[in-house]
Amino acid sequence: MGVAKIGRFPYSLSIMKQVYLDTFGCQMNVADTDRMELVLFHSGYRRTLEKEDADLILVNTCSIREKAEQKIFSLFGGLKPLKMANPDLILGLTGCLGQQEGEKLLKRMPYLDFVMGPDQVDGIAQAVDRVRDTGKSFVWTGFDQEKVYSIPELSLSKSPGPSAFVNIIKGCDKFCTFCVVPFTRGREKSREPEELFEEIRHLVNQGAKEIILLGQNVNSYGKRGLKNPMPFHELLYGIAEIPGVQRLRFTTSHPNDFTRETIRAYRDLDILVNHLHLPVQSGNNQVLKAMRRDHTIEEYRDLLAELKSEVPDISLSTDIIVGFPGETDEAFADTLKVMQEVGYSSSFMFAYSPRPGTPANELPDSVPEETKKRRLQETISLQSRQTAQQGQSFIGKNVKVLIEGRSSKPGYTFKGRNPQYWNVNIQGGESILKAGDTVTVQVETVSGHTLNGTTRQRDAG
Ligand code: SAM
Ligand code: SF4
Repeated sequence: MGVAKIGRFPYSLSIMKQVYLDTFGCQMNVADTDRMELVLFHSGYRRTLEKEDADLILVNTCSIREKAEQKIFSLFGGLKPLKMANPDLILGLTGCLGQQEGEKLLKRMPYLDFVMGPDQVDGIAQAVDRVRDTGKSFVWTGFDQEKVYSIPELSLSKSPGPSAFVNIIKGCDKFCTFCVVPFTRGREKSREPEELFEEIRHLVNQGAKEIILLGQNVNSYGKRGLKNPMPFHELLYGIAEIPGVQRLRFTTSHPNDFTRETIRAYRDLDILVNHLHLPVQSGNNQVLKAMRRDHTIEEYRDLLAELKSEVPDISLSTDIIVGFPGETDEAFADTLKVMQEVGYSSSFMFAYSPRPGTPANELPDSVPEETKKRRLQETISLQSRQTAQQGQSFIGKNVKVLIEGRSSKPGYTFKGRNPQYWNVNIQGGESILKAGDTVTVQVETVSGHTLNGTTRQRDAG
């Protein structure tokens, strides 16, 4: 059962070895790194923030865009001297780039001890032992053939914090033509609801107030890998029954699998916050078709209209790709148009990056780099204007903030988020507040996607 409990430390801290962990990419990678930290903790490693002190260095990689890959290679260039100076240091590359490139990485970086894929996360301690036992480098990739997707119980090494991620589904079956994820993370598989409920109960017992459900396509939850199929919205209703869950979020959603029942869940469940991240990728039907998103922009708009009729103050964010092969000036203008119509509070905006092995890599009509850059700049400017405009509408208003930790902004005490997922810096409450409290903050200023304001007291509950 996937229970996370604070347990007794298996080792005395003074005799533990040290692991330095670096993460690239999405929240699923962040969650995988956290899991590796936990598995290694049970194997006698504690985390260090100093590379120079480490006995083991792991870089959990991303291959979604070429830029991510370049950054990873340059990071390894900097790690090589450490390995040369200390041959006992173990250097591992994990994650999507590992799955995608495998042996090629050992050829390119012969000083690496091992390469692993995302499905081997729970085997990280075995991989490290194998290096120690054999002294030989190796590649360990491929997909777990088990029918079920389970994250076995391990007691936590530290408190989960007020906002905790929970993986509910792995892999992706969508095969959008631009995307490597189905190749690097394999087929979709969901975790049993009982295992999830138990994990969430334990997280809440250890202090979590907000649960963020994770998956490449959370709306496809429950179709594969369960003893009894269960739709995503039923999982949401089930989580809402767990005492102590104050806020519930999920990411990422796919418009094609987003059901009416999930829209109704927004209406019915108080804990479901009024924010949704719903990637649109493009505002043009031809481009959407070439991306194999399998919906039209009209269908996307209808879905949002229905959602807004149930949750009028819902805030929306999205992912956008510009410069996909065949994207004309007119097609790009459609993307700007949908951004204006929807009024996203924030967006992740990317220039299309051809990825090896994906169908889009074979498409003609590539858009010149200069044009991609210009279009990206235009979307970023539009988004900044829209975010600024929406931010202004919060000024003078009260927002409910779940405190996540100390603020690094001078003059501010704490930071957190409001339900619509805006960052909030808080002034005041130094002696009475702590992480995990929910406070009412009066917004005074805005910078980008961050609200700044003052609170005087903690909310009840
Ligand atoms: N599963 C999610 C979805 O369908 O929206 C997101 C997965 S991906 C990790 C996050 C985002 O990266 C995508 O939504 C897309 O905008 C972007 N992305 C993926 N492949 C890309 C590529 N080849 N070039 C540029 N952006 C890409
Ligand atoms: Fe990639 Fe599409 Fe799957 Fe998202 S839904 S992970 S973009 S293939």
